[in-house]
Amino acid sequence: MALWFGTALLPDGWASNVRLTIADGRITHIESGVEAGPDDERHGIAIPGLCNVHSHGFQRGMAGLAEVRGPAGDNFWTWREVMYHFLDRLTPEQVEAITALAYIEMLESGFTRVGEFHYLHNDPSGAPYANIGELSERVVAAASETDIGLTLLPVFYAHSNFGGAPPTHGQRRFISTVDGFAKLVDAGRKAIGNLPDANVGVAPHSLRAVTPEEFTAIVPLANGGPIHIHAAEQVKEVDDCVAWSGARAVEWLLDHADVDSRWCLVHATHVTPAERSRLARSGAVAGLCPITEANLGDGIFPAKDYMGEGGRIGFGTDSNILIDAPGELRALEYAQRLSGRARNVLAVREGRSTGRTLFDAGLSSGAQALGQSRIGISEGAPADIVSFDSADLAYAGRKGDALLDAWIFAGGKVDCVWRGGRKVVHNGRHIWRDSIATRYRRALESVLE
Ligand code: ZN
Repeated sequence: MALWFGTALLPDGWASNVRLTIADGRITHIESGVEAGPDDERHGIAIPGLCNVHSHGFQRGMAGLAEVRGPAGDNFWTWREVMYHFLDRLTPEQVEAITALAYIEMLESGFTRVGEFHYLHNDPSGAPYANIGELSERVVAAASETDIGLTLLPVFYAHSNFGGAPPTHGQRRFISTVDGFAKLVDAGRKAIGNLPDANVGVAPHSLRAVTPEEFTAIVPLANGGPIHIHAAEQVKEVDDCVAWSGARAVEWLLDHADVDSRWCLVHATHVTPAERSRLARSGAVAGLCPITEANLGDGIFPAKDYMGEGGRIGFGTDSNILIDAPGELRALEYAQRLSGRARNVLAVREGRSTGRTLFDAGLSSGAQALGQSRIGISEGAPADIVSFDSADLAYAGRKGDALLDAWIFAGGKVDCVWRGGRKVVHNGRHIWRDSIATRYRRALESVLE
């Protein structure tokens, strides 16, 4: 089949009258400056789909439930109690229903692939399911039903704090031993089965949840795949890390792990200038989740200096409080503007579009963080394409990077999305939205009753 676009963002820039030939889910041929063929599907504007580097799918079901003020100061740690309560009795069917809704919203917003940081492993009593891969299979089922590209990141979680502190009751569904975790990773590899373009990495949850011995044992299970870890999201976590080891969280990782381009340090919010520069040089990706970080009051990542040093950033939706691909890019830039009292902070040079800078960074580094080497609208890459309708007023009279700026900053909508060559979003709606939404509603009415 072939798709024709009035304009498309290709690896070497915007091109006009672009015709893409697609076979077996991949782009096999690109022509520009050509007329559409008689059977081509014609659209206005095409950009590549983005990778969402960090998601906890089931948390979509508790979006907005932690916005009520508690007795003392609310913070990340009080939010976490709400989250623990929410997942207390979730069934595998409910996990699948909620995750599937999250995935259609990701596709509708412009993400065509997700890195699922999957830490819910055990049954409500805290025991492994008879099928240890039960919940991994539910995540894979949600990806399969929605057609989103999946990087499954099974999470190792064993402790409530630094120094191997025993886990709390609220953490019982996350906990595994090193041997049990190896089985979970194997089960994840089996679960992705024939899911097109899927891959598996590993994720030590955070330095507070994993001892150095466990860390050393589980990282090699990535077997060349991506390695993700939450790091330095909270000041308390960094302070606790210093009290435990004498080093800050990102510093400890850079000192003790072979942090390179396979790694994604999620958040990395609280870094000193020295940690920031070392992280930039390592080739790892900082997995930024600006909407969640704002919602949780985490703090502001020093993106300007880090990107100025060549540091790589990917974007994630993390808690899924609001699934909004352009909104993540916008939130990162706006936090920098508010804190620095300046505009166009992250655009790399005079005359450069801020939206294009953020999009290019998120596209290439997001793919790197999820272990994907073929990216963008290029021959051989999966046909993961997002289109905008030229009739959308947000795009009126605009061309080139101004189209991206309209999408990211000025409310431009997504029209269609193809994932692996299949058209899954049409007129801004996922083709299975109605059935998945019905199942989600039933699940939530039962969970929250
Ligand atoms: Zn997270």
